Parts: sequence; structure tokens; C-alpha cells
Amino acid sequence: MNREDPSLRFLIIGAGPAGSAAATTSSALGADVTLVEDSVVGGAAHLRDCIPSKAMAATSIRMKAISNAEDLGIVGPGAGVDLGRLADRIQAITTAISSRSVDLLESQGIEIVHGRGRLVGPNLAVATVGGIEMTIPFDAALVSTGSRPRVPDWAEVDGERVLTTRHVYDLPAPPEHVVVIGSGVTGVEMVHIFESLGCKVSLLVSRHHVLPHRDAEVAAALEANFLERGVMLLKGARAVGIDRTGDGVSVQVEDGRRVDGSHALLAVGAMPMTEDLGLEEAGVKTDRGFIVVDEYQRTSVPHIYAAGDVTGQMLLSSVANQQGRNLGRHVTGHPGQSIDYSDVAQAIFTEPEIASVGLEEADAAAEGRKVRITKVPFTANPRSLIHGSTGGFAKVVSDPATRVVLGGTIVGHRASELIGILALATRGKMKVQTLRETLMVHPTLSESISDAGD
Ligand SMILES: Cc1cc2nc3c(=O)[nH]c(=O)nc-3n(C[C@H](O)[C@H](O)[C@H](O)COP(=O)(O)OP(=O)(O)OC[C@H]3O[C@@H](n4cnc5c(N)ncnc54)[C@H](O)[C@@H]3O)c2cc1C
Repeated sequence: MNREDPSLRFLIIGAGPAGSAAATTSSALGADVTLVEDSVVGGAAHLRDCIPSKAMAATSIRMKAISNAEDLGIVGPGAGVDLGRLADRIQAITTAISSRSVDLLESQGIEIVHGRGRLVGPNLAVATVGGIEMTIPFDAALVSTGSRPRVPDWAEVDGERVLTTRHVYDLPAPPEHVVVIGSGVTGVEMVHIFESLGCKVSLLVSRHHVLPHRDAEVAAALEANFLERGVMLLKGARAVGIDRTGDGVSVQVEDGRRVDGSHALLAVGAMPMTEDLGLEEAGVKTDRGFIVVDEYQRTSVPHIYAAGDVTGQMLLSSVANQQGRNLGRHVTGHPGQSIDYSDVAQAIFTEPEIASVGLEEADAAAEGRKVRITKVPFTANPRSLIHGSTGGFAKVVSDPATRVVLGGTIVGHRASELIGILALATRGKMKVQTLRETLMVHPTLSESISDAGD
């Protein structure tokens, strides 16, 4: 197959960040693209995950600011949350983003088929649209069907009292007491959201600290913040069952403890959406359900690609999007590009926010690698004092011999934005001296990153 053939028929199943980016890139490079989506263009990322959770976090941040307003000299009655209005706002945001995506795709002549896609042969797929099957021949295909929240076999989700993250946007009122099961990124973000909305929150941490795969110092800062806010942390608490009680739930812990609440929220990972896609018949290999791919996102069947959460590589919208763009070039015969997963910037949208890029102190210690760490607490930062949020720090990890920036961590207000500076420094292999010599605006939190270049 000549990949530069402008009539390359490229079929994409799933229009999340991975599928949409692959569609626009490959179409701009000459492919004839058909995009099959059975829900909303933009994917779960727009409809149920990134965007709505961050919209809820935005409300939480405002609520937190209001509850601390007296410190800033603002007096007056407090505020309450109307979840119905918040749900309308989320709906408006997701609709706006999705319709912009549809406009962009259609403006490039990409055919969007609103149906459920499935591979039925090496070069043939079927889309079920309103009960009618439509066959779609292809030269190359992409599976970008995403993931959904994992539900352990001991839990029965009812969407009313026992929830996954996909249900939290439809709650009629803030729950009285949420028991969050799982203390990874999603779990701690949900704790922050619900506590800020005025709910009592208990967090079941299965290991010794929250965010088990992250820097212990970061986890300690977040735990201290949660405890200060009255969140009940149960360490070493592996959930093994959830019972519905009269008007609530009772979560059973492996060691015999029980935690009662009004709602239980499962945040225990994601499952790939790989069922009923005809993968086995097409010869596409999977590993624990996730599709196995090479650095160009090719599956075990070279003209069938996979990207995004369905590959289980790094379950982030930004990664899915970049994988889509890269394979969109590859499938049209352009030089292959692949992602360097070691310098992907990541953030946890709690308050304070937590963001990191590249090598973290904990990774260096685990690898026995010698690094130079410079850490500047935000207590010394004037902007931080002005904001009334004095916690947190900026930490830069560099090579002791060359002084090249290898990564870093930021804990503090808007860390998700500030990390961009360290992401550029890491990607550009800049020396810490460059950070030091860059004059940041005064007074800003960025100055602390510059100071960490000392
Ligand atoms: C609560 C939560 C918050 C998150 N927040 C962030 C964040 O802040 N930042 C970040 O980077 N990432 C975040 N993520 C992760 C992010 O949402 C995912 O990494 C991202 O959605 C992956 O994109 P994707 O293209 O692989 O799949 P998706 O966005 O899941 O899109 C896949 C699409 O495929 C469709 N589909 C599935 N099967 C079929 C079929 N057979 N036929 C047709 N269509 C099909 C689905 O309907 C869906 O629209 C969050 C995740 C969760 C759970």
C-alpha cells in the first residue's frame, strides 16, 4: 500500500482526543477519513471526564475562596451550591467544545458516522446506525475507543448511592457524606471537589499514603491539607464490599473496619473499551484488555492503529491527542514521530494543585540516580502571601554535573499552569542557570521557579 496515496481510506472508531486529532491531522495530509462515534464527538474526555471534572473543580475553588474570604477582608453571608445550575453550566461547556470539534472535522470534509463501530475483516468495518448496519471498507484503521471507570466485582454501581466518577455530575444535591474509594489522581480530585462543596468526606487509602506512585513529600502535603479540611483518611484500608443501607451505604474494609456514608464513590482505575470491536478476529493483540502498540501506535496488525486510553500507555487526554496527531502523520506516509513519555507534564487539580514533569525526586531515589534538588517554598513568595495561599513549593531536579534540568514538581495555587515553565526547561534540556537568569514578572509565583534555579 502506498501510504502517500491521497485516496487512503482511513477509518477511525472513537472520536475522543485521540480519534479527533488523528482525523484532523491525517485528513489535512490527504487521507479520506471516516470517523465513527457512538456518543459525543470529543469523547468521554469532553463529556464525562476531564472537562466536567475540571468545571466542577472550578466551582470548588470558588467555594473554597468564599469560605476563606474573611481573611481577605471580605465579609458577608457565605454561599451555597446549586448542583442543577452547575450541571447546566457543565452541559453548556461540553456542548460548546463538542460543537467546535464537529465544525472543525466537518470543515475538513471528514465524514462523521453516528453509530457503533466494529471491525469485521482485515479491511472492513461495520457501523451500526439506528439498528441498521453500514459497511465501511478501509485501507487503514484506528481504534481509539477510550476507557471507562473500573468497577470491582465486589461493587454494584447503581448511580444513586454507589457511584463512579461518571455519575457525579448528575447528583441532585451535594451528598451528605461521600466515602471515596481509591486515592489515586481521580480519587483525590473527587475528595477536593466534594469537600469544597460542603460534604463530609472519608477517603479509603489502600496503601500507606495517598497518590501511592508519587513523591512522598507531595502526598504528605496533600494529606496535611485534607486533614486540615476535616477529611477522614483511612490508611491501609482496602475496600472489599459495599452494602446499601436504608438511606446510605456501608463500605466494608478487608481488615473488618466499616465506613458508613450517604454515598460511595469508586475511583479505582479504568478499563479499556475493547469489547465487541472485532479485535480478536482482526488479529489485534491485547494485554489485559489494553491494545498492544509500537511507538508509532501500530498494533500487531500494522495497518490497524490504536491510540489513547485503549492502549493503557498513560491515561491522559494530552497524551491521547498527541498520539492521534503522530499516527495521523504516520498513516499518511510522513516521518514517524513518537512520544517521549518521560517528559509529559501532569497535574492533579486539587487545591493546592500538584503538578510534575520529567524526573521527580522519588523516581531518582528509586533508580539510585544522583541528582541535584533545589526547593523553594511558596511561604517566601509575595504573590502567595497576597493570594492568602501560602502552602506548597517549587522543586527543580537537575543533573549535578551538567546542571541540566531533568524535571520537577510544583505544589501550590495554579501549579498546573506553572509547570509549563519546567516542562519547557526539561524538554529544551535547559540549564538551571537559564531559569535563574529569566526575569519573571513580580510579584508572581513564577519567581519561585526562577529562584529554584539557584
Ligand atoms: C474523572 C476523570 C478526569 C480526568 N481528567 C483529566 C485531565 O484533567 N487531564 C487529562 O489529560 N486527562 C484527564 N482524564 C483522562 C482523559 O479523560 C482520558 O485520558 C481521555 O479521555 C482519553 O481519550 P481517548 O481519545 O482515548 O478516549 P475517550 O475520550 O474516552 O473517547 C473515546 C470515544 O470512543 C467512543 N466509542 C467507544 N466505543 C465505540 C464504538 N464501538 N463505536 C463508536 N464509538 C465508540 C466513546 O463513546 C468515546 O466518545 C480524566 C479521566 C477521568 C476519569
